[in-house]
Amino acid sequence: MIPSEIIKQKRNGNEISHAQIKDFINGYVNDEIPEYQMSALLMAIFFNGMTDTEISALVDVMLNSGKRMDFTHSANYVADKHSTGGVGDKVSIILGPLLAAAGIAIPMLSGRSLGHTGGTLDKLETIPGFKVDINLDEFRKQVDSIGIAMIGQTKEICPADRRMYALRDVTGTVESIPLISGSIMSKKIAEGISGLVLDVKTGNGAFMKNINEAHKLGESLAKIGKSFNINTDVVYTSMNQPLGKFAGLWCEVQESIDGLKGNGPDDTMQVTFELGAKLILQAGLVKTQLEAIALQKELITNGQAYQKFVEMVEYQGGNSKDIANYKKLHQPKFSKKLIAEKSGYIQSMDTYKIGLATVELGCGRKKTSDIVDSTAGIKFNYKIGDKVTDGDTVFRLFNSDKIKLESAYNVLKNCFIIGERKIEHQLILS
Ligand code: URA
Repeated sequence: MIPSEIIKQKRNGNEISHAQIKDFINGYVNDEIPEYQMSALLMAIFFNGMTDTEISALVDVMLNSGKRMDFTHSANYVADKHSTGGVGDKVSIILGPLLAAAGIAIPMLSGRSLGHTGGTLDKLETIPGFKVDINLDEFRKQVDSIGIAMIGQTKEICPADRRMYALRDVTGTVESIPLISGSIMSKKIAEGISGLVLDVKTGNGAFMKNINEAHKLGESLAKIGKSFNINTDVVYTSMNQPLGKFAGLWCEVQESIDGLKGNGPDDTMQVTFELGAKLILQAGLVKTQLEAIALQKELITNGQAYQKFVEMVEYQGGNSKDIANYKKLHQPKFSKKLIAEKSGYIQSMDTYKIGLATVELGCGRKKTSDIVDSTAGIKFNYKIGDKVTDGDTVFRLFNSDKIKLESAYNVLKNCFIIGERKIEHQLILS
């Protein structure tokens, strides 16, 4: 195999074969193909897309780059949730423990921040001691014993995604239906699940900017799920503004704990319950959507969802005392306000820029070796449709690095519009 010939074939818009995809990706994972050649292939895929046959081959090769879990011994329904990426999207941290408390086994493989979007793994790693790179035996044991584990791609499981994901993050090759499909579905199939719910995000803060593109991605993901006998539901949700009141690292864990304790923001809980209902119905725990939502609310009210989260944190190396103390941990050193310069209603937000501002603050990476800042984030005091008065603090940015705070502030300027009309924001789409 000559890597540059495969790159040229894809660059010229021609189909590449299963064998070529396999040789290239395996060569990359085994360090025989350098990052610059993988970057070039990713860019060629980004521009020219992939046929269904190529996407199936991509998923197959990425999946088989590592081991595959097997939960056929489990008495419980084994399932998972995944989002295509958003700003302020902490739903996995709430929904995983909530569904485990309902009796569904959740072997969750998540990702780090990607492009302008936040990553569940980076958020979870802000919990002192929390390990996201446990080995597969420990992972399986944990899911069997407490019903949930949340980890990342490792050398053993989905190593191809681990490397390609990090490379896409810094080479401008994220927003591609075949690459997103390969990345998400290789992880989900490797988990050995029977059920899956996908939160396909659309809007100015999503990788898919409009609903037509989101439908294409949703259909691609569902088709792959079906071909691997996974019950797959797709929910489309808006990313025209951040989800919840915070976007960042520890602040999103704090907001998730609030959610698990029954004090989560309405939009975040609405998406959580909508996605959770799909898996509860798939598992046959109840018969209707209303019952599935009622069950989730009950597990929050009776404290079982929160307890499951604490159990998972302890199992993965964290400490319940830190969780009990969650309001006090990771205090940022600096903060800055973004002020409304007139009165009216928030008309729109530039969610993409808000995501970029979180990267500037230190919640994401500009190059793979960057270290993230646990204390960093943005608080949204107002969202679309809210009334603001001249002089109100619309957003508050915080972190522990003054230079990064200033550059994030410069990115955030002019990223919301105030006008006279009261706007309705539609969260769940079809
Ligand atoms: N989530 C993933 O796991 N991979 C992507 O490419 C995008 C979102």
